[in-house]
Amino acid sequence: TPIIMWFRRDLRLSDHPAFAAAAETGRPILPIFILDNVAQTLGAAPKWRLGLGLEVFAQSLKKNGSALVLRSGDALTVLQDLIEETGAKSVYWSRAYDPDSINRDKRIKSALTQQGVEAKSFAGHLLFEPWTVETKSGEPYRVFTPMWRSVQGRDIASPDAAPKISAPTEWPKSEDLKKWQLGAAMNRGAAVVAPYVRPGEDAGFEALHGFLDRISDYGDNRDRLDRDGTSNLSEYLSLGEIGPRSVWHIVQRAAMNGVQRTDAFLRQLIWREFAYHLMYHTPQLVSENWKPEWEAFPWNTDTSHPEVVAWMQARTGIPAVDAGLREMYVTGRMHNRARMIVASYLTKHLMTHWKIGMDWFADCLIDWDPASNAMGWQWVAGSGPDASPFFRIFNPVTQQEKFDPKGAYIHRWIAEGEAEPSETALAYFEAVPRSWELDPTASYPKPVVELAAGRARALEAYEGRKTG
Ligand code: FAD
Repeated sequence: TPIIMWFRRDLRLSDHPAFAAAAETGRPILPIFILDNVAQTLGAAPKWRLGLGLEVFAQSLKKNGSALVLRSGDALTVLQDLIEETGAKSVYWSRAYDPDSINRDKRIKSALTQQGVEAKSFAGHLLFEPWTVETKSGEPYRVFTPMWRSVQGRDIASPDAAPKISAPTEWPKSEDLKKWQLGAAMNRGAAVVAPYVRPGEDAGFEALHGFLDRISDYGDNRDRLDRDGTSNLSEYLSLGEIGPRSVWHIVQRAAMNGVQRTDAFLRQLIWREFAYHLMYHTPQLVSENWKPEWEAFPWNTDTSHPEVVAWMQARTGIPAVDAGLREMYVTGRMHNRARMIVASYLTKHLMTHWKIGMDWFADCLIDWDPASNAMGWQWVAGSGPDASPFFRIFNPVTQQEKFDPKGAYIHRWIAEGEAEPSETALAYFEAVPRSWELDPTASYPKPVVELAAGRARALEAYEGRKTG
């Protein structure tokens, strides 16, 4: 009887413990992806990106003599139907760590086990399972640096090679990916963002290998808005098109072969682990102020507030803020430094709840990741674990001078007021809905909130929260 291999955010063949274990049994494997409510509720950009990933993944299974069966509906019902149709006695999957997936998976594991089906979950999305890393007193980590120190030198198993897959003699019927219309809410997807995206496992490995030439300068370049100093691996890691163990081992091997200064990069991979560690141990990370005292802060929670609308439409009148937001709208990604700048401006100068920013990112980012997004927002806002203090308010002008000294990043993303605007800056105006009524030949907007005034207002509210 076949093993059902339930793929979720792990669309790869190699470095896949669940898939490797299924293949090792020698039984036929039935790869399936289910469009259930967890996948249905993805934001526009990540959902569109999922569709691209599924298309490539289905092809790579096909090249390996297999196929991807697509079904939609409640995941348990779909699995039970498939079990009945095929006589499968086992369902394998890679663990997910966000609260919604954990609840779903628990429910499914217990229902399947009760009906005598082997339901088995595996590691794969992380280097370290969240419960295997703890402080000396046996607590989860709440501060990054000690966690980074504690995992250094730990053994990380070598990634599995892509398994040999035996196919079932009969394939159950599959739905049509096109009919799922995963890009329906992403109007700008095909025309604007697509040129920036290369989905799939092979593309992920290519990005990684290309990055090895730049990795020694990563520490110096990673904060520079005007340089391509980072790996661009986040979308692959987020959708599981590349596994973290592969990344870790390929970088370690390069280091052994003489590539210098790889630590700064590996440290960032552990930030990703830290985000998952936090989300697992304190699931409120994705939905509530991690530090409860922040409930008392007078956040603006109105998404239709004109200041918030200006922020979403990337016309705050603060170039470094607008540039970052436009980069995200056009490419589906945003430089990490810009993420911090736009998040700081929203939560501090505009005193808007970090959740509004987090949700906007979740709708716009093709590398959306539940843990890193929530941690990033709470970190910048000051409400999160190991967060920067609220009173340390980024000044977007100083940030720009420091990390984009010649204004190349601004030129790339801001068209207004430029004699010869760049193509990328103009692309933003093509991408946005007509109803926003944006015009690249208009003059650049005045700040919705002046930096000094916004800063003073935020600090006053912060002091009031303490004394009030
Ligand atoms: P590199 O600098 O090359 O880093 C390599 C990998 O390490 C990344 O791909 C990522 O997996 C991990 N990583 C790096 N920095 C961080 C970090 N600060 N936190 C967690 N993991 C990290 N990252 C996402 O993948 N998805 C998100 O939705 C997301 N939202 C964010 C929101 C805010 C407000 C902030 C401040 C950061 C967010 N990040 C998010 C983290 C970071 O900005 C991106 O991971 C990074 O910019 C991706 O580019 P890269 O792959 O070239 O990263």
